[in-house]
Amino acid sequence: MNTELFSLKGKTALITGASSGLGQHFARLMAGAGATVIISARRADRLQTLAAEIESAGGKALPVVMDVTDSTSIKAAFDTAEAQLGGIDILVNNAGIGDPRDFLDMSEEAWDFMMDTNLKSVWRLTQEASQRLIKAGKGGSIINIASILGLRVAPKLSHYATAKAGVIQLTKALGLELARHNIRVNAIAPGYIQTEMNDQFFTSEQGKSYIKQKMPMRRLGQLEELEGPLLLLASEAGSFMTGSVITVDGGQVVNPL
Ligand code: NDP
Repeated sequence: MNTELFSLKGKTALITGASSGLGQHFARLMAGAGATVIISARRADRLQTLAAEIESAGGKALPVVMDVTDSTSIKAAFDTAEAQLGGIDILVNNAGIGDPRDFLDMSEEAWDFMMDTNLKSVWRLTQEASQRLIKAGKGGSIINIASILGLRVAPKLSHYATAKAGVIQLTKALGLELARHNIRVNAIAPGYIQTEMNDQFFTSEQGKSYIKQKMPMRRLGQLEELEGPLLLLASEAGSFMTGSVITVDGGQVVNPL
């Protein structure tokens, strides 16, 4: 087998939500696999620290502040990427919020903010990236970080689950529409992995008992367990994959009812 198949040498990848959790891990991973990484989020200080870490490990990283709910900010980030690095080849739409709330008390603002951050952002960034890739005559790979909550539901997450189901449908629709341009669009639907998004819950007694009772493997996922799927979709190893959704969840979605 050609192990170079999973290499990202010579590629430039833009990762959203790189100031924490999954995005931070993906940035380190992709830089290690040879990509120049553009790391983006709102917290500039965290991006600077991560860029310095990646550079000191021999990688190449460009920190770019971007708010995924603001199309001006997105365009500016892509302009910077184009001016400094000649554009991107890979986009990881990872930025997102959790924000658990009961449906009955949920304000319209909270619903809209969820849709804007977790769903419309994917539409915005994918359109911006695709238009620029097509103009440059290049193909590309777009990877959307959905969730098993795009396939199942849970209390207090009606807005989150709806947004993530939207991300899954958008992945399939854009996989179809962009295939002729050699732009592949795929998603990963992770199960629960402890990050700042859910730290409080999984360190609580309720969270610990949830893991024992509801998770088939009786444990949370580890960030490292997303590495294989991410590199598969980002690299030439996944060259015939588009519109796919890879579930990485220790069997959570096949849990019996
Ligand atoms: P974290 O809370 O650790 O990280 C979220 C990231 O999103 C941060 O870097 C944050 O950066 C960024 N972000 C949030 N809002 C915006 C915004 N408006 N503009 C730009 N960046 C923003 O969460 P995770 O790492 O756990 O989550 C990453 C993705 O994975 C999310 O899409 C989440 O839904 C998904 N996921 C997570 C699972 C888990 O169990 N952890 C399971 C399934 C899916 P900053 O605040 O600096 O802008």
